[in-house]
Amino acid sequence: MEEYINNKKAMAILGIKSLNTLKAKIKEGLKCYGDGAKRRFKESEVKAFIDGFECPRMNGNTQFGKAHWEMRGEWRCCSHCGSMNPDDVIEAVESLGPQIIKGTTKFYKRYIELPGVKNVGDGPIKFYTQHFTEDQITKINELIKKEIKN
Ligand SMILES: [Zn+2]
Repeated sequence: MEEYINNKKAMAILGIKSLNTLKAKIKEGLKCYGDGAKRRFKESEVKAFIDGFECPRMNGNTQFGKAHWEMRGEWRCCSHCGSMNPDDVIEAVESLGPQIIKGTTKFYKRYIELPGVKNVGDGPIKFYTQHFTEDQITKINELIKKEIKN
């Protein structure tokens, strides 16, 4: 399990001194957990926010730069392919239920129906399973199965 870091440590990694700048980064898509003095970050996510990451849908082609998570509505989306962030998908399914996930003709792509999101300008409308780790795939499958049993 990855340890969480506090505001101060996150600001040190980002090389910023003001809490307002940190809040601006959160608006841009830096994931945080909790709020105020209780706000926490995952170190790997803070580092990925600076460096960017290789979107699995780039197929290794980073000539136009790396991807980063950007906020669309309340959710993080991949700047390259528009996929909703896997952790945000899991959170949304936990709070709204698995019926928000809709199939597509592609086995690696799913649509997601979020409240208040009518098009890509409002928020994410899809996700690609290529963005998921094995643990995240297991988690989302568990959530879907749980709902079918109940
Ligand atoms: Zn992507």
